[in-house]
Amino acid sequence: MADRSSPILSSSLDPVGEQWDDLRRVGHEMLDEMFDNLMTLREQRVWQPLPDTIREGFRHTDVPREGQDVHAFAKAFREEVLPYSVGNRHPGFMGWVHGGGTPVGMLAEMLAGGLNANLGGRDHAPVEVERMVLRWAVALMGMPDTASGILVTGSSMANFIAVIVASRAVEGGLALRNSGVGLRPLVGYAATSAHGCVSRAFDLAGLGSEALRLVPVDKDFRMDTAALQEMIAADRKAGREPFLVVGTAGTVDVGAIDPLDEIGAIAREEKLWFHVDGAFGALARLSERFAASLATIGQADSLAFDFHKWAQVPYDAGCILVRDAQKHAAAFAQNLNYLSREDRGLAAGAPWFCDFGPDLSRGFRALKVWATLSVYGTQRLGHMVERCCDVAQYLAARVDREPTLELMAPVTLDIVCFRLVATGMTDEDADVFNGEIVKDVQESGLAAPSTTRINGRLVIRAAIVNHRTQEEDVDRLVDTVLACAERRRSGGA
Ligand SMILES: *Cc1c(COP(=O)(O)O)cnc(C)c1O
Repeated sequence: MADRSSPILSSSLDPVGEQWDDLRRVGHEMLDEMFDNLMTLREQRVWQPLPDTIREGFRHTDVPREGQDVHAFAKAFREEVLPYSVGNRHPGFMGWVHGGGTPVGMLAEMLAGGLNANLGGRDHAPVEVERMVLRWAVALMGMPDTASGILVTGSSMANFIAVIVASRAVEGGLALRNSGVGLRPLVGYAATSAHGCVSRAFDLAGLGSEALRLVPVDKDFRMDTAALQEMIAADRKAGREPFLVVGTAGTVDVGAIDPLDEIGAIAREEKLWFHVDGAFGALARLSERFAASLATIGQADSLAFDFHKWAQVPYDAGCILVRDAQKHAAAFAQNLNYLSREDRGLAAGAPWFCDFGPDLSRGFRALKVWATLSVYGTQRLGHMVERCCDVAQYLAARVDREPTLELMAPVTLDIVCFRLVATGMTDEDADVFNGEIVKDVQESGLAAPSTTRINGRLVIRAAIVNHRTQEEDVDRLVDTVLACAERRRSGGA
């Protein structure tokens, strides 16, 4: 019998004989360690800076020519990565808009890695799982069951796909796939509060970021629809071609919901594509409390949202849904010899997911979405979403009670923006002061807020997106902010 361990006869990377047992043991240890780590999150620091020695190691280690023992890799992960990660799993993490992940999602990721499926196309169960998950997404968002969709990295990609589909859906738009968009003066609209990825999508689509007109917002940070109408009229008068309006359900800075009903009506009237960026906010539909204010989402021509934010699916998992599946496919499908579709066999099952987005090879993101939705159920997820909003309201009330803090925007969903009152300081000095406090708090390891600017002023921003975050955690945030401010004011920075 041939010696299968001989490198000459076998190029396989699989273990051989007893090596399997060893690898299996390491695998079980890794899994146990990660469970232990997840069970003790609250005792850990939210975030801590990566020590210079470890950073230098990453920056200067050469490409390994000889392989090393998997134990050495496990040790490096345990010591050099695990303690110095983002912190978004921790209940004290409130920076940006990050989901917290779940142990079930983790297991699904492991299974997906073991299966190593490519969901670009072809006829197999993983593709059917993604179709099922998308059918659920369509139902949750109230879109017609003829809508199409695809899982993507995140809402940045989902919004980009929406801009591409919308620009190809204009009259004569399909020809733009060959000629480029250069000769069509297409313009679109989003509020000034829209996420930066929308303007980047215009840039990437070749329309230019200036082709995205930024509509002013009202005092509650929602799109001013009268201004939208004026801007559309002015662009038409100037010979430009309005084609798209983007409403946001849950703005990234304060969590506002644009007046989606009105925007939808204007889009219909003006024959514009109506896209909703619901990156995190769309999933508030899981809660009955918010379902009514997000009812219009289902009437949009397209909708972007993330499973990796409020649905707690591990990174990355975004989603784009398109009401008109034909228009969606028309923007991406190609006819290629090496990707021919057949009536049976492995190459059956058209249309393929590669016809609905820019990626050909695609991982099995759908598995962790399926695991999350099926194990937790939409009722429990909806309750979690409500809890996050309750904790945000609790934080807002606490801020209101603190004489040295002020609330900087109304709390619609789960985002609270506040600031240390700047008595005796210029606005600019107060911006710097608040910014320094946020860094102090992050470095304390006790909480992790982030910052944004509201009406030009820097504010402390707490986004309650993590299912683990409770009242005690936002109290710790406020206590730490106040303590850090006290220390700086008394000169002990
Ligand atoms: C997070 C976010 C995005 C970007 O989504 P990614 O998943 O990070 O690519 C877009 N829009 C809004 C409103 C967001 O909150």
